[in-house]
Amino acid sequence: PAIWHSEVGQRARRLTWHGTADGSATVVVGARSALFLPFKNLGLIIVDEEHEALFKQEEGVIYSARDMAVVRARLAGFPIVLVSATPSLESLANVEAGRYRHLVLPSRHGGAALPETRILDMRDHPPPRGLFLSPALTEELTATFERKEQAMLFLNRRGYAPLTLCRSCGHRMECPHCTAWLVEHRNRKILSCHFCDHTEPMPEACPSCGAEQNLTPIGPGIERITEEARHLFPDARILVMASDTLGGPAATAEAVGKISRREVDLVIGTQIVAKGWHFPHLTLVGIVDADLGLGGGDLRAGERTIQLLHQVAGRAGRASTPGRVLLQSYTPEHPVMQALLSGDFDAFMTQEAEQRRPGFWPPYGRLAALIVSADTAVAADDAAAALGRVAPYGDGIQVLGPAPAPMAILRGRHRRRLLLRTRKTIAVQPILRRWLGLVKMDRQVRVDVDIDPVSFL
Ligand SMILES: [Zn+2]
Ligand SMILES: [Zn+2]
Repeated sequence: PAIWHSEVGQRARRLTWHGTADGSATVVVGARSALFLPFKNLGLIIVDEEHEALFKQEEGVIYSARDMAVVRARLAGFPIVLVSATPSLESLANVEAGRYRHLVLPSRHGGAALPETRILDMRDHPPPRGLFLSPALTEELTATFERKEQAMLFLNRRGYAPLTLCRSCGHRMECPHCTAWLVEHRNRKILSCHFCDHTEPMPEACPSCGAEQNLTPIGPGIERITEEARHLFPDARILVMASDTLGGPAATAEAVGKISRREVDLVIGTQIVAKGWHFPHLTLVGIVDADLGLGGGDLRAGERTIQLLHQVAGRAGRASTPGRVLLQSYTPEHPVMQALLSGDFDAFMTQEAEQRRPGFWPPYGRLAALIVSADTAVAADDAAAALGRVAPYGDGIQVLGPAPAPMAILRGRHRRRLLLRTRKTIAVQPILRRWLGLVKMDRQVRVDVDIDPVSFL
């Protein structure tokens, strides 16, 4: 097949472009932008991992590549297949409404058995003080290495520690431009903001009280888990997979090759390891913090956590040897944990649907987020209040806010949010256009509109 993504070289790009235009490239495997290739006679689109929020581009133009692909197929009258082991509630609702047909693939690749899943209640199995891996998990790791099998530890957090705290005065190291803590990256001896490009050297003394050698890391990132694993298993060959340690598709392919050739005993990674890799010798997956991602006010937090963790768990035992998955959790009774334990994804999604349906939350209604941002808090407040005063109303239309956006300051801009929620039968675009037309905005104020917001920053 012809390949299309951002790292493909000029020559290959040209070949694929012309191949699609003259019809000689019959199959194209590509990232989002492949949708814009000049296909001569496109007859089928397959969207793999359709539930992935990544299909939505957040910077600049906001569009869902999945939904665009669906529209494209409908306009041209050819079939489209959305593929996922954990379909999005949007797609399931479309099945329910009779718009999509549901095709079920009942068995795993190559007939492998589903991994055996266990939840480690961290209140009963606490890790040693200052560490993050429960003894029950380290025992499993030891046994796995003794059998010459591979293991994976998953933690969806880059860096060493998500928070640096002064033990003398309680000062927290925060980004000067965002409502966010600075993440320590110990390898690079810096503190870094994961929401803007701010970095600063790790200070020797607390910037607030001046106490020296008293800044302490709180919580783990994968660098810290790697440190712990190296200490526990000095002989294990460890490979770290994170977007900032792997440069791009080429480096990722190299890492995947190493794992397949059994040159690695332990993989430690962020969500990059959740991709559909096939690691036949990997039999144990340890989820370091299964609760991560459930916090925050995100409507889809539960759905996204279960999709991600299910996908990570699926890396275990893909060949003849059965796999095991251990989830470290402080909330083992949470519906997400219970669904991962039972494997009953359908029941979980039915429950999600029942919670969203009555309030017309997506996918049973429409939601648009208006993010008002300005250089000063006053300007942001004024603009958001002005929008709030002329908010649309009517049967099936509701406006929530204005309120500070979850990221109240991002890249130095003060942000306020209004949410427009409507019944599914109401077209949102004309309402938004009219609404925004009613308020004359100061030039420094920006209003970003995100329809069906995926992330709630
Ligand atoms: Zn201090
Ligand atoms: Zn920042």
